[in-house]
Amino acid sequence: MADYKHILVAVDFSSESRVVVNKALEIARRNKAGLTLIHVVEYTGAVYAGDIPLPEDLELDQRLADQAKGQLKAMTEELGIPDAAQVVEIGVPKREIVRMAVERKADLIVIGSHGRHGLQLLLGSTANGVLHLSECDVLAVRVGKNGA
Ligand code: AMP
Repeated sequence: MADYKHILVAVDFSSESRVVVNKALEIARRNKAGLTLIHVVEYTGAVYAGDIPLPEDLELDQRLADQAKGQLKAMTEELGIPDAAQVVEIGVPKREIVRMAVERKADLIVIGSHGRHGLQLLLGSTANGVLHLSECDVLAVRVGKNGA
């Protein structure tokens, strides 16, 4: 019996993203599991200018989300998996990743150990947050300084 039925892989479009997606793909093929790729556009409202929070720019968020959909599509075509499910959400990455795992009934989340935020940390902030919040298994693929 396969260990996993549906795998959610978190893509931040950093240079290590392909390593993370390839690992998820390898596990999905071995388990004959479904695969969903997710990218989360971080709220522009979460960016601060000094102490003054900028107003949320919904139009910009939407434009970034549309752009990300195109990037995900190009990535899956390049990897030869154009039929893999792809979702782009707007929000806080760790929360949206965990929420989508529940929505898609994923039993494994594959994430990079490090991405844009966490190179100097033992574990990137998103990977760390997902590990704490997730109810399913989480695989942190070692990337960055000591990895790929
Ligand atoms: P970081 O927290 O930036 O070190 O990122 C660690 C890992 O979290 C990355 O390799 C991705 O797998 C995932 N990740 C980070 N930010 C995002 C995002 N905006 N959307 C989807 N996945 C993300």
